[in-house]
Amino acid sequence: MRIGVLGGGQLGRMLALAGYPLGLAFRFLDPSPEACAGQVGELLVGPFQDEDLLARFARGLDLITYEFENVPVEAARFLEGLLPVHPPSRALEVAQDRLLEKRFFQGLGVPTPPFHPVDGLPDLEEGLGRVGLPALLKTRRGGYDGKGQALVRSWAEAEGAFRTLGGKGLLLEGYVPFDREVSLLAVRGTTGEVAFYPLVENRHQGGILRLSLAPAPQASQTLQEKAEGYARRALEALGYVGVLALEFFQVGEELLFNEMAPRVHNSGHWTLEGAETSQFQNHLRALLGLPLGSTAPRGHSAMVNLIGLRPDFREVLKVPGAHLHWYGKAVRPGRKVGHITLRRDSPEALEETLPLLLQLAEET
Ligand code: AMP
Repeated sequence: MRIGVLGGGQLGRMLALAGYPLGLAFRFLDPSPEACAGQVGELLVGPFQDEDLLARFARGLDLITYEFENVPVEAARFLEGLLPVHPPSRALEVAQDRLLEKRFFQGLGVPTPPFHPVDGLPDLEEGLGRVGLPALLKTRRGGYDGKGQALVRSWAEAEGAFRTLGGKGLLLEGYVPFDREVSLLAVRGTTGEVAFYPLVENRHQGGILRLSLAPAPQASQTLQEKAEGYARRALEALGYVGVLALEFFQVGEELLFNEMAPRVHNSGHWTLEGAETSQFQNHLRALLGLPLGSTAPRGHSAMVNLIGLRPDFREVLKVPGAHLHWYGKAVRPGRKVGHITLRRDSPEALEETLPLLLQLAEET
């Protein structure tokens, strides 16, 4: 089977590496000739908007998926006319617009932070009246890793952010004083079979995921079931196939939906060593209608992102239970260039080793 992947970053690269044991072949499409998945599979280079290129990309493939959620919905729709494309383009459409996304989950009865669309100053005023201060003003489209948003604590700050962010196509959200951020990775196959990984605790720095702890420490069974129930509604409403990542704010035993990613997700990288079946292989199994693999954790894992630096590989690999993943990308400030998963048998052992690893992931 030959799988086409829209996007050729590290997620695509890890998908291919997980697919080779199943005898799959991969072709990537990415606007950049440097896309790192090109090191492990065939890479076509060009814009997602080019229909001739899309048709050439699709030729000889059995199915198509994506590893980048900002693929234009039109490109996915065009390809859906040629081949099976999973997850469905509707999932892309929802994920690309924070307003559509929040409304979609609200419509499913999933709690969200209070929100209000902002397309002019009167909306901003009305929104602030509704959601209160502090609040976050976000662009509806194109924001990622904390970009395209501003925390506002006063009317003056809100007005300033409103202008900086372009004055329309915005979303005002109530600031949630959360206990922590957690994510759930869900997977649904073409057969309708579903599986869920344990909740993961995520810590961000400067809007970028820095550390994931899996399973999330002290997450109750009730919380896990709540998250799974919310994910199940989304999977079914979208007729979803593949891995779906949902991010939540945890407040006490409540979960407020923040955002979704219709693809394999950074907060699931720990599954490569820390779960019976990785998110990457389960995504592929789902697409192919194969039985899903067990999502059971193997011990306790921490995943540390390598952001804009190359650590001393020797030092990292000396740490018991550490697994290094280097994506083969040029190192640039703020860029995710690799990750390390630390897998241990007990939470105590994990806690003991983690500080050393965090230190190594910060040194140049
Ligand atoms: P986002 O790109 O929407 O996931 O936002 C990036 C980060 O900003 C999140 O991971 C949170 O740490 C923070 N954030 C976003 N929205 C809110 C909110 N409504 N309340 C509190 N923190 C938020």
